[in-house]
Amino acid sequence: MSDPNCIFCKIAARQIPASFVHEDEDVLAFRDISPQAPTHIVIIPRVHLSGLNDLTPDLAPLMGKIGLVAKKLAADEGRVASGWRLVSNAGPDAGQTVFHLHFHLLGGRPMAGKMV
Ligand code: AMP
Ligand code: ZN
Repeated sequence: MSDPNCIFCKIAARQIPASFVHEDEDVLAFRDISPQAPTHIVIIPRVHLSGLNDLTPDLAPLMGKIGLVAKKLAADEGRVASGWRLVSNAGPDAGQTVFHLHFHLLGGRPMAGKMV
């Protein structure tokens, strides 16, 4: 459920400070420490999963919840009309550096180039 060496588990346990923008029983969100856009929020499940590769069918409701939290936060940040992006890096080619499942919510500037 929790990994004592995981920085995002430590944030979830309030052992490391973060600027929280959302918290419920399953999902947390906080501002990225190194923002790449005017809005850069990290959305995580409370439960420790190393990334998208750890998903199993029983986690489908949790994934849906994360999507709804992202939508709410994009609206809170005033990014609905201008647009926003939700990204999760999985593994080395994607550049994942923290191995606790997380989604980057980015907005507030045009995203340079299309990713897909
Ligand atoms: P990724 O490279 O996709 O694994 O994303 C990890 C993200 O976590 C990066 O954007 C980091 O800036 C961010 N990050 C790392 N440590 C912290 C922290 N203590 N508080 C907030 N964001 C963090
Ligand atoms: Zn963790």
